[in-house]
Amino acid sequence: MRREDFPMLSNKNIIYFDNAATTLKPRCVIDAMNDYYNYYTANIHRGLYESSILADYLYDSTRFVVRDFIHCSSAKEVVFTSGTTHSINLMVFGFMKNYLEAGDEVLLSKAEHASNILPWIRLAEEIGIVIRFIPLDENYAVTYENFLSSITPKTKVVSLAHVTNVIGDVRNICVIGNYCRNHNILFHVDGAQSVPHLSIDFIHDNIDFLSFSGHKMCGPTGVGVLVVRENLLKKMAPVFYGGGMNESFYSEGGYQLKDIPVRFEAGTPPIAEVLGLRSAILYLMKIGLDNIHIYEIYLKRYLVEKLSEVPSVTIYNKDSNSGILAFNVEGVSSMDVSKYLNMYHICVRSGSHCSKMLKEDLNVLSTVRVSLYFYNTTEEIDALVLALKKCQNIFKIVEY
Ligand code: PMP
Repeated sequence: MRREDFPMLSNKNIIYFDNAATTLKPRCVIDAMNDYYNYYTANIHRGLYESSILADYLYDSTRFVVRDFIHCSSAKEVVFTSGTTHSINLMVFGFMKNYLEAGDEVLLSKAEHASNILPWIRLAEEIGIVIRFIPLDENYAVTYENFLSSITPKTKVVSLAHVTNVIGDVRNICVIGNYCRNHNILFHVDGAQSVPHLSIDFIHDNIDFLSFSGHKMCGPTGVGVLVVRENLLKKMAPVFYGGGMNESFYSEGGYQLKDIPVRFEAGTPPIAEVLGLRSAILYLMKIGLDNIHIYEIYLKRYLVEKLSEVPSVTIYNKDSNSGILAFNVEGVSSMDVSKYLNMYHICVRSGSHCSKMLKEDLNVLSTVRVSLYFYNTTEEIDALVLALKKCQNIFKIVEY
């Protein structure tokens, strides 16, 4: 699907299966950023000349593009950040630090990415919140029953990835969100691995906070989004202070902040990157998130079927409903498998994938991860499977 849109696919002889780490960029995104640099470079929210006004318009209206993409109530709820990690840190230290008290419980799972665990651990050190983990089932997934049994009267926040980055299980955020809203629990969704692949509905799913990254959805690196329900965003404190976010400040002390969401974007923001993100979202919307999801599931099933034919391969997540597949080759480290596949120009990820607690459930330290996107093909999967079948002893071939 739409391979011709991606310069990397025509410029380089690669099979790119590392889309959970970052995706390739279509020409329209590269062009949007180049146009800003070539034709209307200017800072935003400062100038009254033509190029500055155009940059202002495109930057500010990107909030409406995001609103329509993830279906939140208002463009005011959209804060630009540098990525999911920044978004989660902003929420934890700008909102949760003031909202939570010692002894309050935050519910996570051990399959979360480091970015959705470490800020909470730090907050626990700072103010004494308690972190609890929802037990994973035999497929390393969070079931609604396990979610419910982990709730206590002290649960104040639930923070979960919509799709996890190693197992790729899709959490039922709609029912979890509904429960949280009815029980006065705040719900944060880490959408880094879902927003690029699935249609998401912020209002319908009762989400309070949503984080995601531009670079995992055909957009540039260095830009991400934190969406926060308006009444909560009004209560959030900025973490960074400086130009662009204040109305005024005084020699005797004190300051007045600008309105939401600009007050959370101190300093010169990543303008070219926001414009690239705008182009990426419009591009994805044109293809249709439902089409992307259906095609990825088709590819994933094909991959599971073909990879199951390789005797030495163990697949950890045959049934997860996303384009992420984790496996190991018997007796070979995941690093060696990925180095071996590199000889065939096949790009996969190996290691613990920033989910370092998952190994406690998975009982392996690292896995090889194939993560698909809509520009992958069954022919590419055949090439991967053939390479793995050919290899009788990976250790003998990889010499580093
Ligand atoms: N959460 C999940 C589920 C992720 O997969 C990632 C990136 N691998 C992140 C958070 C962090 O994203 P970023 O590095 O873009 O901040």
